[in-house]
Amino acid sequence: MADQEFQKPTGTQDIFDKKQRYFNKIYEVSRDIAYQYNFETIETPIMEKEALFKRSVGESTDIVQKEMYVFETKGGDRLALRPEGTAPIVRSYIENDFYKKPQPVKFYYCGPFFRYERPQKGRYRQFHQFGLEVLGKDSPALDSQLIRAFYQTFEELGLEVTFKVNSLGDDSCRPDYKEQLKESLEPDLEDLCKNCQERFENNPLRILDCKNEECQEITENVPQIVDHLCKSCKKKFKSVLELLDEMEIPYELDPFLVRGLDYYTNTVFEIFAGKGPALGGGGRYDKLVELLGGRETPACGGAVGVERTVDAMREADIDVTEKRKKVFLAQLGNSAKKKAFELFEDFRKEGIPVYESMGRDSLKSQMARADKLGAEYTLILGRQECIKGQIIIREMKSGKQETVPLDKVVKKIKKKI
Ligand SMILES: [Zn+2]
Ligand SMILES: [Zn+2]
Repeated sequence: MADQEFQKPTGTQDIFDKKQRYFNKIYEVSRDIAYQYNFETIETPIMEKEALFKRSVGESTDIVQKEMYVFETKGGDRLALRPEGTAPIVRSYIENDFYKKPQPVKFYYCGPFFRYERPQKGRYRQFHQFGLEVLGKDSPALDSQLIRAFYQTFEELGLEVTFKVNSLGDDSCRPDYKEQLKESLEPDLEDLCKNCQERFENNPLRILDCKNEECQEITENVPQIVDHLCKSCKKKFKSVLELLDEMEIPYELDPFLVRGLDYYTNTVFEIFAGKGPALGGGGRYDKLVELLGGRETPACGGAVGVERTVDAMREADIDVTEKRKKVFLAQLGNSAKKKAFELFEDFRKEGIPVYESMGRDSLKSQMARADKLGAEYTLILGRQECIKGQIIIREMKSGKQETVPLDKVVKKIKKKI
């Protein structure tokens, strides 16, 4: 145990071994799929000005009020460790004049995010996400394609997911709906939980996704926003759903899905695998670029929690261990060692990872190492073989050996694994 003083901070983790393989797999697959859907990778700083999130995420949200890591620099700037990925990308879109490029501009990102939350299973203060953002064009086709890109990512990871979708309307229909919602909630205001009583004035939509049972009972029969969309919002939402049907993406309508953040308009969605918590979600945010000082720019995007995806993959028994048989390269004597270095490179160039222990000299200790690694084949290059230009392939389980010409061994092994 490390000295208490130097242990990692609460809510953080060292990611290695099996967990690292899951992380790698998720990053690899999400990056590949993003690439296939023409998203370009972007990296933004891990810290941003505090004001960016105050404005975008909203002053009244838990994220800004309770969960953000904020600090003052020596120069007096107030910075925050990024609690989410969309605002930094919108900031970057504005700051780098991305509106001058052909629209839409599509971004992929992945990496760590930070929220000071009560630590619990599967929830970290430094957590990881990958996300997709599409800026500069408004079309139901883009909403659907975004959902599809997430769907394909999970399919490639071996996870069966379903989507919950809803529409939150826009400036021309949402304010009316908010009033109707408040009217309908007013008689029960006293019975709502404390949080919801606060939400009633500044963010009544959020009452709809309160996890409190009493609140849920009260909201059961309130008017639903999908019934109060204006003509254009209704039309957009219908197109999104039709396209999802067309693409055979499993989804259900969820009138209580409002997402936590104020800036969403029209389509919102969340992603689920089985009974677990949402793996991710997103939606359209047509007002955000303007809110952050840019010109009017429609946009949509979403993000997925890597830790939650790992949990879901484990739950579904999805194995990410290397299936390929292991090969170990053993050498004996100086000239053999030199040859072994060359041979190692030959394998590497063919994309075949070979284990070795060049630091060891005795054959016995190298064989023990091969055993311990669980190698299926060990290649033995001794003095005799070196002179004859040959090498021994030993099948570890049976102990069967064959001697083959050195220049044929890569090909031979390639066939065996
Ligand atoms: Zn509540
Ligand atoms: Zn509308």
